[in-house]
Amino acid sequence: MPSTQHHWGTPPWPIRFKPRPSALPASVDFAIVGGGFTGLAAAAWLKRLAPEKSVAVFEAFKVGEGASGRTGGMALAETAAGDMPGLGDVLSGFQKILHTLDVQCDLDLHGAWEIARKDGRNDSPIAWNDSGTLRVMKHVPGGTVDPGKLVAGLGRSAQRLGAKIHEHHRVTHVAWHREPVLTIERTGAATRAAKNGSRPTHKLTAEKVLFATNALSLRVSGLTHGTHARLTLALLTEPVSESVLRAIGLASRTPFYTTDFPYLWGRVRKDRSIVFGAGLVTSSDVGALETVDIAKSEATQIFARLDQRVRALHPALAKVKLVRHWGGPILFRDTWKPVFGWHPHSNAKHRNGLVIGAFAGHGVALSSYFGCWGAEVLLGKRTSPRWAAANATRTPDPEMRHLNKV
Ligand SMILES: Cc1cc2nc3c(=O)[nH]c(=O)nc-3n(C[C@H](O)[C@H](O)[C@H](O)COP(=O)(O)OP(=O)(O)OC[C@H]3O[C@@H](n4cnc5c(N)ncnc54)[C@H](O)[C@@H]3O)c2cc1C
Repeated sequence: MPSTQHHWGTPPWPIRFKPRPSALPASVDFAIVGGGFTGLAAAAWLKRLAPEKSVAVFEAFKVGEGASGRTGGMALAETAAGDMPGLGDVLSGFQKILHTLDVQCDLDLHGAWEIARKDGRNDSPIAWNDSGTLRVMKHVPGGTVDPGKLVAGLGRSAQRLGAKIHEHHRVTHVAWHREPVLTIERTGAATRAAKNGSRPTHKLTAEKVLFATNALSLRVSGLTHGTHARLTLALLTEPVSESVLRAIGLASRTPFYTTDFPYLWGRVRKDRSIVFGAGLVTSSDVGALETVDIAKSEATQIFARLDQRVRALHPALAKVKLVRHWGGPILFRDTWKPVFGWHPHSNAKHRNGLVIGAFAGHGVALSSYFGCWGAEVLLGKRTSPRWAAANATRTPDPEMRHLNKV
């Protein structure tokens, strides 16, 4: 039974956008399932390119309640599997999308550091104690965004262009006819707003459907095979002084992530607080992810280890206060490649169901980039990348064995 509320903690950035309520339609040209970066960018792009078409976004909770509102917000180039044929320049595409849609989200692309216990640079600004000494290996293209502003900006843009966004409406089933029929269930606030307090379902016909549901609803999105859904964890320190940032090597505000295990990533925020993240809650299988409570069992143990690791990185962090803990859903594919292709049950002739997701920890820039590309595919203006097909032959990457250890 899907939950109506998550117990995944509260990330530090607010999402200052509430969609205007509107009546549920009986039919739409394009139904988008999922109100994260992917779904909201796709909705805005569809309306921008085809203003005459109707577009409705269905979000089971609130916009940004999945990974997008909970992410670390590092904008990274390429995909988790590296560069791919025909991918193009993800970061410059992302920048253009934000400019075109007039989204202000504090985008700063001054680069990112790959850090590791081996092969670190002699002039590394950081030398952290974490199962060896973590040093900067490489400066790579990348940067940061404010995730709350990015969700809100994409939502506002989609709404301004005419897309309808229905929060607290979960798509529970799709009947794959020539025109797919979606079963939509009210959840949470929408249920309470309903007069009889029941959970009425609504049927809606769409010409085409885009699944942008990431690590949740894998059965409906057709992503149960070759994927691994997890909850990944993050924490926030209190704002630290400039001299602490200098001592730990983060005065340049360059975000960082490890290329070896145990994994660690992080970034400095505008107020000099620092986000660190690591760890995957493994006990959740496909259906159970939504019911994970970060205040219980496995998550508390992972947080206890992460707290210890952060304080042990450098003497300047030994007494730092850790003021917030939260988690968010993440979907890995066996090959690390994201999914961008036709739904396995959609109508092969009419190509009426597209699925985009499984970005692993590499989806901030790529999700908007693919969302807009997906809009062009739905409009028949472009094709999807063949290497990302939903049913592509999968040879699991041997590195996947580390998933349960990070
Ligand atoms: C803690 C954390 C840190 C991360 N850090 C980074 C980082 O620094 N850099 C980076 O590049 N990537 C990072 N990622 C990954 C990145 O955030 C995601 O890849 C990206 O946000 C995915 O966006 P999305 O729109 O595809 O999915 P989501 O944001 O997860 O959106 C999916 C939405 O679909 C909704 N939904 C699900 N099922 C249904 C249904 N049946 N009906 C209606 N709605 C439904 C969900 O409620 C959710 O809002 C991180 C992820 C996490 C969790």
